[in-house]
Amino acid sequence: MPPLNLDKQVSPNRPSSLPHVVILGGGFAGLAAGKALAKYPVKITLIDKENHHLFQPLLYQVATAGLSAADIAQPLRLIFSGQSNLTTLMDEVVDFDLDASKVHLRSKTLSYDYMVIALGVTTGYFGNQQWAQFAPGLKTLDEATELRRRVLTAFERAELANDSNEASQWLTFVVVGGGPTGVELAGAIAELAQHVMAKDFRHIDSTKAEVHLIEAGPRLLSAFPKGQSSYAHKRLTKMGVRVHLNEPVKSVSADEVTLSQSAISSGTILWAAGVEGNSVANNLGQVPRDRAGRLEVNPDLKLPNFDNVFVAGDLAKMSDFKGKQVPCLAPAATQMGRHAAKQIARDLAGRQLKPFIYFDKGNMATIGRSSAVANYRKISINGYFAWVAWLGVHLVFLMGMRNRISVFLNWAWSYLAWRQGARIITKKLIGRSDGINATSSN
Ligand SMILES: Cc1cc2nc3c(=O)[nH]c(=O)nc-3n(C[C@H](O)[C@H](O)[C@H](O)COP(=O)(O)OP(=O)(O)OC[C@H]3O[C@@H](n4cnc5c(N)ncnc54)[C@H](O)[C@@H]3O)c2cc1C
Repeated sequence: MPPLNLDKQVSPNRPSSLPHVVILGGGFAGLAAGKALAKYPVKITLIDKENHHLFQPLLYQVATAGLSAADIAQPLRLIFSGQSNLTTLMDEVVDFDLDASKVHLRSKTLSYDYMVIALGVTTGYFGNQQWAQFAPGLKTLDEATELRRRVLTAFERAELANDSNEASQWLTFVVVGGGPTGVELAGAIAELAQHVMAKDFRHIDSTKAEVHLIEAGPRLLSAFPKGQSSYAHKRLTKMGVRVHLNEPVKSVSADEVTLSQSAISSGTILWAAGVEGNSVANNLGQVPRDRAGRLEVNPDLKLPNFDNVFVAGDLAKMSDFKGKQVPCLAPAATQMGRHAAKQIARDLAGRQLKPFIYFDKGNMATIGRSSAVANYRKISINGYFAWVAWLGVHLVFLMGMRNRISVFLNWAWSYLAWRQGARIITKKLIGRSDGINATSSN
């Protein structure tokens, strides 16, 4: 293919012979790849099984009734409505034929000149997939609303309980996984029980709720400096969360979590402990993967042995050329998506590809109202200022002005009034072990 003039704007009447770039996934990496190719003379098709881009860092707030689902998602069509070289298809990727440069969707097959695989990861149960029904994870909007249903319903079931044992089982919440998502969930549930729900029930005392946070390793927030792990631990303990360290989960059932030393009887068990590569990537054939099923890619983000396939985002397992492991974080996914797009542009222009270099923008986690940890290189901030920084960063990076305004107003209202706006249960319960036995009411 002859080198192209990369500075040329794409004409709306572009010929159909333009190179076809297929981007799989409209998460942070796919979105960044699509946008970075806006000014290049290529025809782009972006595929996602959902119709929206999801801001996963705020999912836990949907799960704990702080925000509504629509506040943290934005339709992909709207995001790309002004980009004439990109078409969005809402369809599911089901298979690949890399040798023939084809990708099979549920409804059709597409040929590509270049493909960017940005399909992300899913919740991982360390080989115990049967636990998923009892302890759902938090990765999609559906899962967040399911978690919210379970959490809010637990308070309702406690109010209906016939004896104090049953009530206290419903008022016991277990969060598995002491990373940022687990810490955020545990803190938010504790606040919900102690402050938001406290005045609204007549039979139960929601402030008596127990929140257990289970971590297999020796400290919370293992990706943060040790001092911040201890800060988060102390802070959560002060909020009433019982932190269990060095306690790998042995088994999970509908109403109990068994640890190495003890068992916790609970009506609501939530899983925030691990991730694994998107299972559809297993259909890529003989390509290198790590134990969690993430794809091991070359330093230039190419899938080994395939010159026209790039992998970006959480699904890509790699160390950058300085030897730094690229983390599963939104900024890393964005940078990789953008880099994959630039690689395609370089390749089309006959230029040499460049290795990916990860620019570490730091890490943040909120612990509760007015408290967070933030860490950038050697600078660590804990407490109120970290929390303000956390609010600011999340508002800035949230997609769409309507969402930013809505989230800001929700936060202001919750902060001033100790009220959560999204406390609506959208499914009815049947039966006893209702974490699971639910039927839709709409
Ligand atoms: C609860 C939670 C909290 C987080 N908090 C933070 C945080 O505070 N800060 C931070 O930096 N990062 C955070 N992350 C991580 C961050 O969200 C991820 O690193 C980022 O989303 C990865 O982007 P991605 O594009 O690789 O994958 P994703 O954003 O997961 O996007 C993958 C896309 O592929 C689509 N897809 C999947 N399978 C198919 C298929 N078969 N067919 C078609 N489409 C498909 C999905 O619908 C999705 O849109 C958090 C993640 C979670 C789950």
